[in-house]
Amino acid sequence: MIQNIKEPKETDALTNSINVDSPMSVLSTEQHSELIALLSDLIRLPSENPPGREVLVEQYLIQYCEKNGLHVERIPVTSNRANLIITLCGESEHNPIAFTGHMDVVPVWSDERFRWNTDPYEPLVKDGWLIGRGAADMKGGLACVLLAMSELAHTSIRPSRTIHLLATCDEEDAMRGSRTLLHHPIMSELSDLVVCEPTGMTLCRCSRGRTYGELIIRGKTAHGSRPGEGVNTIDIAADIIRSLSLLNSSWTLLPKRDRDWMSQQNCYSHDDDMSQEVCGRRELDNSCGFEVPSYWQPLAIHAGLEPGIIPDVCRLRLDCRVSPMSSCNYEIERLNQILDEIETTHHVKAEFLVEDKREPWITASDHRLVLKIHSLGAFDETVFSGSTDANVLREAGLTPVIIGPGDLNDVHHENERVLLAELERAFLLYKSLML
Ligand SMILES: [Zn+2]
Repeated sequence: MIQNIKEPKETDALTNSINVDSPMSVLSTEQHSELIALLSDLIRLPSENPPGREVLVEQYLIQYCEKNGLHVERIPVTSNRANLIITLCGESEHNPIAFTGHMDVVPVWSDERFRWNTDPYEPLVKDGWLIGRGAADMKGGLACVLLAMSELAHTSIRPSRTIHLLATCDEEDAMRGSRTLLHHPIMSELSDLVVCEPTGMTLCRCSRGRTYGELIIRGKTAHGSRPGEGVNTIDIAADIIRSLSLLNSSWTLLPKRDRDWMSQQNCYSHDDDMSQEVCGRRELDNSCGFEVPSYWQPLAIHAGLEPGIIPDVCRLRLDCRVSPMSSCNYEIERLNQILDEIETTHHVKAEFLVEDKREPWITASDHRLVLKIHSLGAFDETVFSGSTDANVLREAGLTPVIIGPGDLNDVHHENERVLLAELERAFLLYKSLML
C-alpha cells in the first residue's frame, strides 16, 4: 500500500507546482534552455572509458559548482581519475539524500562511428530528442541533478536536508570510482540513494547483479589429420555453451542458506521482509517481476594458434546477469557443476576465473524513498537489467533506487538519444526529492 506524503507547502512555487507526470513541457523557457545547454556541454566532453577520460567532465563540473554555489570535494581514484562529491547543505544534516551518476561514457568504436547519423560528440536536438554519446547513459541524469541543485542554491529557501551528488568515474569498466567511495567517511552518513541511470523514468527498486570472468579449457593438441588423437577444446566449448543455454532455461530460486548470506551483505533493505521479498510471494502479487531469471552467455571466444593443428586451449569470456533472487556465488556454483561434468566426461581441464562479483539488490516496497517517489507521480516499476554503481555502494549500507531519463535500448550504440520530455520529468522529480 502506498501512502501519500505531504509536500512542504512553501516550496510548491519552487518546483513549478510539481507535475512530474506531465508529458508537456512544464519548465520555463529559461530552465528548458539551461537543461539542454548543460547536457550539451557534457556531451561535448568525450569522457570515454576505456581509457578513462573523465577528467574532462570532472574539470567542467568543478567550475560549474564554483559558479553556482555548490560545494565540491575531489576524491582521487588513480593518478588522473577522480570522483566528485557535490554538496548543497540543508536545514538539517540528519538523513541526507544522495544522488549518483557516472561521468564516463562508453567509447565510440570505429565501426560504431560509421553507423552514427551525426557527430556523437556534437549534440543535436531533433523531434523532441537530444542525440549524442552519453545523452541517456548518463549525462542526461547528471545534468538534471546538477541543474536542480544549482537552482536550489540560487534561492533563499534551504532544502530541509543536505543533498549530495556522487559523480563517479569508471562505472563503465571496473567501477573503481564507487569502490573508492566505499572507504570515504561520508558513507557512514548516507542512506537513501537515487541512481540517475536511464530507466525511461520507471522506478527500479531492484536490480540484477553481474559476475563475469574467463573460462580456460585445456585439452590436447594433435595434428589436424588425426582428430581421434587430440581433444579439441573448441568442441568442448561448444558443449559448455549448449549446457549454459539449458542452465538458463532451468533457473531456480536461490536456496535459503544463500538468502541469509545476501541479507548480511546489505542486498535487501529489510531483513525481516527479505525472505518474503525474495521468495516472491509478496512481489509476485504486484507483478514487479523479481522472478526474472539469471542468465549466462559467452561474450568472446579465442582458440587456435596455427592452421592444421587441433587447438589444445580455448578461452571464453563468460558473463552472468544475476537475478535479484539469486547471488553471484550461487550462479558460479551452478556453472562449476557443469564444468565438473565436462571434465569427467571429456578428460579436460575447465577452470572459470572470476573477475568481478556485483550482487543484485532489492529495496523494500515500503521503503521511504519508494513511497516518496510514488507520492510524486505515477511511476511504473521494473527490474533494472544492467548493473550500476549501486551494486557496489549498497555494500556500505546505502538503500538505492534507480530512476532516470533515457531508455537502456538507446545506449551503448549509435545514435544514442534521450527524450526531452523525460529530461524535464527527471529534473522535476529530483528537485522534488531534494526539498
Ligand atoms: Zn550508465
